[in-house]
Amino acid sequence: MPIHILDDQVIAQIAAGEVIERPASVIKELVENALDAGATTIHIAVAGGGQRLMRVSDNGQGIPADQVETAFARHATSKLVSADDLSHIQTLGFRGEALASIASISRVTMTTRAHDEAVGTRLHLEGGRMMQRQPTGAPAGTVIAVENLFFNTPARLKFQKAENTEKRQIALVVGRYAMAYPQVRFILEQDGREAFRSSGSGQLADVLIAALGVTSFKDLIEIESENSDRRSPIKVWGYTSVPGQSRADRSRIILFVNGRWIQDASLGYAVVQAYHTFLMKGRYPVSVVMIELPSEEVDVNVHPTKAEVRFQNPNAVFAIVQRTIRRAILDLGQTTPLHEGHGLSMLAPASSSQFHSQTEMDFDLDSPGWYPHQQPSYTQHAADEEDAIPAGLEAPNRPRTLPLLRVVGQVGASYIVAEGPAGLYLIDQHAAHERILYEQFMENHTRQEQIAQLTLSAQTIELPASEAALVEANFEVLDEIGFKLEPFGQNTFVIRSIPSLLSDRDPVQVVAEVVQELEADRMPGQAQIEEKIIQRVCKQAAVKAGTILSMEQMQALIRQLERTESPLTCPHGRPTMLHMTSEQLEREFGRK
Ligand code: ADP
Ligand code: MG
Repeated sequence: MPIHILDDQVIAQIAAGEVIERPASVIKELVENALDAGATTIHIAVAGGGQRLMRVSDNGQGIPADQVETAFARHATSKLVSADDLSHIQTLGFRGEALASIASISRVTMTTRAHDEAVGTRLHLEGGRMMQRQPTGAPAGTVIAVENLFFNTPARLKFQKAENTEKRQIALVVGRYAMAYPQVRFILEQDGREAFRSSGSGQLADVLIAALGVTSFKDLIEIESENSDRRSPIKVWGYTSVPGQSRADRSRIILFVNGRWIQDASLGYAVVQAYHTFLMKGRYPVSVVMIELPSEEVDVNVHPTKAEVRFQNPNAVFAIVQRTIRRAILDLGQTTPLHEGHGLSMLAPASSSQFHSQTEMDFDLDSPGWYPHQQPSYTQHAADEEDAIPAGLEAPNRPRTLPLLRVVGQVGASYIVAEGPAGLYLIDQHAAHERILYEQFMENHTRQEQIAQLTLSAQTIELPASEAALVEANFEVLDEIGFKLEPFGQNTFVIRSIPSLLSDRDPVQVVAEVVQELEADRMPGQAQIEEKIIQRVCKQAAVKAGTILSMEQMQALIRQLERTESPLTCPHGRPTMLHMTSEQLEREFGRK
């Protein structure tokens, strides 16, 4: 075949392949156009997972009669004039590709009326070819119906996913735009049934209720970049899940830059990192993160689908996202919940917040404080006890992260009952102690303090070959944490030291347990192995459920928990305490 120039239709179909991968891509482009046109209501109707029909109706500015045909030409846009404009794009579209691409691979009918014109226009195109054009009466705005997508590109058609997959994908796309544009009302209908609706109230919280479901919304906390970050041109806000809530995949980590949904593995990682030690391995938070920055600091023209962006200063964006979320988690004590929980809730979402709202005026986390409904002697009592922390435990010098709690007693030899300024607390003694030990261990570890205890009698341990190999491969990591093991013949090791936290335990048993931890996860990175072993050591060392504690022991435990950085979860991410607020108690007893 001689070299020849492809005809326009073929060129358009090739180009379309880049922008339109699946029905959801059509929805994305049409919704973006409606938003760019200033619509306040966008109605999306889908049949057959988009394959049969996708119709997007908006009440935006419409297209003037003399421009309707141009809108379907390739590289036709009203949003960009010069290449310079690319550096400060304010609209979602700018490439002038979507309508041409969609039209070239489907049958399109568009009805539109510009808001300042009396008569509208109806166009019908098939495979990009104009079939019909007529004036028509129509409300101001635009309706675009796309039928038989990929009808003339059999290869694409063959690779389309199942109808249900596509339905879900479309719902995801619509949900994301609804989050990014809470002031716009979105209605999604699939096969004649309403699948999603947002109110257009302007409140992201309202959209999240619709998009994520009320139950999961209750467990979200608000995030906002800090005062000191205000000087930075980068702003971050949104919602993120409390540590007790998580998912098995990253799909609910949803990121937006200047109102545009983006995919960014690195920023996703920043979100996950903010939950370090708050979530178990393989669990991910729900996070809706809005990033705003001057348009010239972000390049949106990276990919035809515009779902990837390039930041001028990616590290700064990473840091601020991570810091903002981390702070929100650590600061739970200062956050107001959006919807009050009911009954016993985890401390994380409701408690601290209600605690805050109740004592806003007179409570300061750094001072013992005084609460009107408590006996004045309590403050004194607690202060005395703080001095009475048994020797050998690290003197608390960190700021308090929990309200001052008074121990009332123990339940089931496993839970400590305590009273605080905002109600009743039930503390899991084992999980709480794990958290305390973990933070102490990490602190000593980073300060390179002595964490190992030499064993008196050099006992040996013999392991199965596979475990012995794991130990050998991890000698250094184990040594870092306090396990000094020396080879002693085949598959046998002398135990020279173990972490001092475990000094009262049988060294052989301790090592055997830790080796199991290595076994369980054969391929993790060095840092993860270390982290896992440390968590294991703290778990072994922590006071067990079923252990009866004296009042003094319980009080000492609580005092130490109050000074941990993250008192609300154990290192594996499980909650350390439940809280019932004073209000909840009153409500439950019918006093209010
Ligand atoms: P882009 O959005 O990149 O400009 P499109 O191919 O998506 O390119 O759309 C081409 C042009 O058609 C837009 O620039 C806009 O002027 C017009 N247009 C498309 N959809 C709408 C709509 N729903 N309401 C008003 N104008 C529209
Ligand atoms: Mg567009």
